[in-house]
Amino acid sequence: MSFCLDSYLEELRPLINVDCGTLTFEGINFIADTMAQKYQELGWHIKRVDCGIAGTGLEIRNKPEAKHIDAMLIGHMDTVFPVGTVAARPMTTDETKAYGPGVSDMKSGLLNILYALRGLEQATLDKLSICVCMNPDEEIGSLHSEAWLKSVAVNAKHVFVAEAARADGSLVKARKGMARYRLGFHGKAAHAGNEPENGRSAISEMAHWIIAINELTNFTSGTTFNVGVVKGGAGANIVPDFAEAIVDVRFWDNDEYAVADEKIRALCETPFTADVKVVVEREAHKPSMVPSPQTELLMAQVEAIGKDLGIDITWQAVGGGSDANLTAVLGVPTLDGLGPIGAGFHSADEWLDLTSIEPRIRLLQRILEKLAA
Ligand SMILES: [Zn+2]
Repeated sequence: MSFCLDSYLEELRPLINVDCGTLTFEGINFIADTMAQKYQELGWHIKRVDCGIAGTGLEIRNKPEAKHIDAMLIGHMDTVFPVGTVAARPMTTDETKAYGPGVSDMKSGLLNILYALRGLEQATLDKLSICVCMNPDEEIGSLHSEAWLKSVAVNAKHVFVAEAARADGSLVKARKGMARYRLGFHGKAAHAGNEPENGRSAISEMAHWIIAINELTNFTSGTTFNVGVVKGGAGANIVPDFAEAIVDVRFWDNDEYAVADEKIRALCETPFTADVKVVVEREAHKPSMVPSPQTELLMAQVEAIGKDLGIDITWQAVGGGSDANLTAVLGVPTLDGLGPIGAGFHSADEWLDLTSIEPRIRLLQRILEKLAA
């Protein structure tokens, strides 16, 4: 594979310079069209997947008739940035880095997958059934693409997610699970001066819940609860009839989380305040990704390949989730962080390490070649 950084950056630029936050229909569509075109030129089979309000997903295969998939490669097309971000700060580069919305999370990941596949010889491709999935809504928890991604992953032997490698070059072997709850507290309003005894305070009820939820935290096992947003009440002289809290949960142990989830739901049946109704809605949920023995074998292979290429492979366990969580829980060996090196995700400081692009393409390519051997 001959690699030219300038032409890579010319291919990257249009993918950065379009507003494509989740649910930005036109932007996502532009990315999907652009990527589909590139794979079409390679002669791959392209299926557009309807992801509802999130827009289009792409399922791209070299052997569309094969039931089994040797390698499933995943990347997301959306960013976290609102419309107008590109106008304010389009892609720029300096000697060592590129900047811009989604530059490492994860437009360069999408491109690295493409480059790795472009570099494979036909003889290798003949031996491998590969499926590339690009979803439009990872940044909101893949709510509209989860079922589709899982339906593909159940037929896959290995999954590689091309989120960026960490700033120190590490790949990602484990990710915490997460869940998010919206709690609605419905009480009864009353005049705070004339008849407070007739009111039922939604805020008082919420206060009890905040304490109870915080008590579920176990720092030792890593199951943690954060009541991150609260609101409620209409005036100091009114007993509040409504309050709301949003809770973020992170965990390594899926079973321990399941127990906590049951406790939260059980609390609904027995509110602390008589006549207050509590509604619990789980808005998002990703199980944790913890390496299985098969994943550890795959990690050892990747380390050996890294050694051949002169790339020191290290691993991190991180607190944030990705689509890797969804496939790992199905029991499919899953590794993440196979994009180029970057950091500052979800902020204006996001950067991509230019010197890491080519080595990480080679790494991914060599991993696929190894699977074919
Ligand atoms: Zn990402």
